[in-house]
Amino acid sequence: MRESGVVLWGVADLAGIDTPRDECGRGFPRAVSFALPVAPEIMAGIRNGPTPAYAAEYTRLNRRIDELSGALASAIGSAGFRARALASSKRTDPVRLRGDFPHKTAATRAGLGWVGRHGQLITRPFGPWVRLGTVFTDWELRPATPVERSYCGTCRICVEACPASALKGTAWRPGVPREEILDAFACDQFKRERYAHLNEGRNCGICAAVCPYGGRTLNRPFPIPPNR
Ligand code: SF4
Ligand code: SF4
Repeated sequence: MRESGVVLWGVADLAGIDTPRDECGRGFPRAVSFALPVAPEIMAGIRNGPTPAYAAEYTRLNRRIDELSGALASAIGSAGFRARALASSKRTDPVRLRGDFPHKTAATRAGLGWVGRHGQLITRPFGPWVRLGTVFTDWELRPATPVERSYCGTCRICVEACPASALKGTAWRPGVPREEILDAFACDQFKRERYAHLNEGRNCGICAAVCPYGGRTLNRPFPIPPNR
């Protein structure tokens, strides 16, 4: 994994969680979750809004994740197990603004981090300045210990920074509905109206850019969330 640029990975136990199905209608008991880092200097440059450099990085990482997920699914298949790669960033439900499965659910179950008040995965080493990949499998690899609580403490920096007022301020816990954390429709509308020129209005990232856990990846002082 390391040679591929993957900086974090783990195995998620998905027992009791409704996963995408294979062609025979069978779900998957496990997923391999992995993360690639977003260039910190690019993230640090979008606190006031996304840039063309961020849009290019977003596209590059999504392509790379799809390559890696496809290769991993093939390798698992060659080992005699079922596997299905989850697209890196593909909205398959345009009404509810969702993909087939949240990468961050697999990532929390795989021990990679928790979901911040901005609705994105926060990892200890890179904060939310990562993009995620997921490969479902029936290979019952030993799962990691899931992360089951938020470490945002009383911090609300992202909530206050969101120009669309799309963040509700709710601290994540496993199973909390997305709607309690993020108004996805307000976020989506803002991006389409304000940043239509960047990846067809799919990019913003201000909430991730201002997150102190991301700022720690830069070698300069950032505020630390209180009571973390
Ligand atoms: S991506 Fe932008 S609009 Fe959406 S929640 Fe984050 S800061 Fe708000
Ligand atoms: S900015 Fe603060 S509240 Fe928002 S996700 Fe980061 S640590 Fe949590």
